Amino acid sequence: MAGYKHPCRYCNKLIPADSNICPICGKNNPLSLRCPKCKAPIEIGWKACSCCGQSLEILCPKCGKATFLDDYCQHCDAPLRIICPNPKCKTEQPIGGTKCVKCNKSLNK
Ligand SMILES: [Zn+2]
Ligand SMILES: [Zn+2]
Ligand SMILES: [Zn+2]
Ligand SMILES: [Zn+2]
Repeated sequence: MAGYKHPCRYCNKLIPADSNICPICGKNNPLSLRCPKCKAPIEIGWKACSCCGQSLEILCPKCGKATFLDDYCQHCDAPLRIICPNPKCKTEQPIGGTKCVKCNKSLNK
């Protein structure tokens, strides 16, 4: 797949297939959606991950509406990310997990 360019799902510009961040619009995961728990590919509109059953619908912390578990709210475009409460870690990660992806601290204070 290397060498091919794919359209960013946010800005539709062609970007390298292994991009983690779109170099044009700067958004995370510009090419594919992955389950925050098991990393299986998921699609917009799914209510739960087909692989592990993780719920893919969350309430946006900003506007309070139910939105697909993505990097950004479908309604107000607020980033759907949380910061690890561990002061030594503070890793930014998707909403939905129960433990920090880096230090394993519980994210439900
Ligand atoms: Zn883009
Ligand atoms: Zn999953
Ligand atoms: Zn929102
Ligand atoms: Zn952490």
